Amino acid sequence: MTSNRFDLRGKVAIVTGGNGGIGLGLAHGLADAGADIAVVGRNETKSAAAVADLKARGVKAISVVTDVTDKAAVAAMIDRVVKELGRIDILINNAGMSIRKPPHELELDEWNKVIDTNLTSAFICSKLAYPALKASGNGKVINIGSMMSIFGASFATAYAASKGGIVQYTRACANAWAPDNIQVNAILPGWIDTDLTRGARKQVSGLHERVLARTPAGRWGDIDDFAGIAVFLASSASNFVTGTAIPVDGGFSVMA
Ligand code: NDP
Repeated sequence: MTSNRFDLRGKVAIVTGGNGGIGLGLAHGLADAGADIAVVGRNETKSAAAVADLKARGVKAISVVTDVTDKAAVAAMIDRVVKELGRIDILINNAGMSIRKPPHELELDEWNKVIDTNLTSAFICSKLAYPALKASGNGKVINIGSMMSIFGASFATAYAASKGGIVQYTRACANAWAPDNIQVNAILPGWIDTDLTRGARKQVSGLHERVLARTPAGRWGDIDDFAGIAVFLASSASNFVTGTAIPVDGGFSVMA
């Protein structure tokens, strides 16, 4: 047994949506524990800034500009990570977006866009990373759900469906890949201050105050709140933890 079960030196992680928000918070945790990181997103400028930030923490980091809904692009991304960083031990499926409309107003193309980005992308990335994760000998997949994996909201039609789906997808993969010593878990963030929720706060009046009142911790989450859970779920410390969905929510999901 290693003297530090949270040590990620020698490990390589892919973080989709790792160029900002929660993905960058997760990547900070992994890099501080020694993992090399591939940042995957569409925005080249944001990804270059994230790579510089991660490199300053003393690890290797690369940006692979990729739309995670595009299977061929994801296949090329996986090849490049293996070629440039040597292996894949950790996959974080974090890329996500929302279109806020009630069920009767949401169009089919909007529904498909949210499901493709939040749920189908996790399937594509996990399926294509599986051979490398298996070869790692102790692979880790971390899928990002939401409070909308548990609760509903009138404006979260496709979003809630995608985030409920991600938890069930996590459980299926945890079962399938346990014989390969790959652990698959989900994180369910509460309300976190990021670009995504800055948009929501503009669209949904009173949201900011409701979140403060509804969260026992009495604050919005910060991207730094995700560093610790990332290290736990990516390291040997969690080798007997699989198929779970862990809230990181300041108590939001346990407040009556
Ligand atoms: P951000 O909007 O800050 O980040 C979203 C990230 O996803 C960006 O890095 C973006 O990169 C990437 N992304 C989106 N679409 C694609 C795509 N097609 N291909 C590649 N990358 C893509 O939001 P958050 O950090 O808040 O969200 C991160 C995850 O956390 C999402 O899954 C979200 O649903 C979830 N979440 C967030 C909560 C919150 O309160 N903030 C609460 C619960 C869950 P780029 O634009 O460069 O493509």
